[in-house]
Amino acid sequence: MYYKLAENATAMRVAQVFVDDCIGKLLAGKLDTETASMANYWVTDMQQQGIDECVRLHGGYGCMNEYVVCRMFADSHVQRIYVGTNEVMKDHISRSV
Ligand SMILES: Cc1cc2nc3c(=O)[nH]c(=O)nc-3n(C[C@H](O)[C@H](O)[C@H](O)COP(=O)(O)OP(=O)(O)OC[C@H]3O[C@@H](n4cnc5c(N)ncnc54)[C@H](O)[C@@H]3O)c2cc1C
Repeated sequence: MYYKLAENATAMRVAQVFVDDCIGKLLAGKLDTETASMANYWVTDMQQQGIDECVRLHGGYGCMNEYVVCRMFADSHVQRIYVGTNEVMKDHISRSV
């Protein structure tokens, strides 16, 4: 169980570094569409995977509306849909590579 927490903590740390770099680029007027799309799809995929693990760690309680982690699962799912789906983000990226 503990290694799942370690994996999640590592993924979140890497995602934070990536997002911070994108924010720096945005403030400098240097954030391109491909990089923004990479951040959008990859970070939200990591979020969904991480929350999915958290739901599993809660066992059956993770699927009950009374538990915050259940709400977080729904919230993380929609992150991959709005402002352009993750498939569309990958479409943007593939056009530039
Ligand atoms: C909670 C919520 C809030 C939202 N808020 C906003 C908002 O504030 N402003 C706004 O403009 N929109 C908003 N939306 C709309 C959102 O941007 C769209 O739902 C999203 O772009 C997907 O479009 P769609 O629902 O028509 O699905 P579809 O376009 O029908 O897509 C369905 C599925 O097919 C995939 N797909 C579609 N085309 C391709 C393709 N060419 N290649 C590969 N896969 C593809 C999609 O990735 C998706 O998984 C919101 C949606 C939700 C759920």
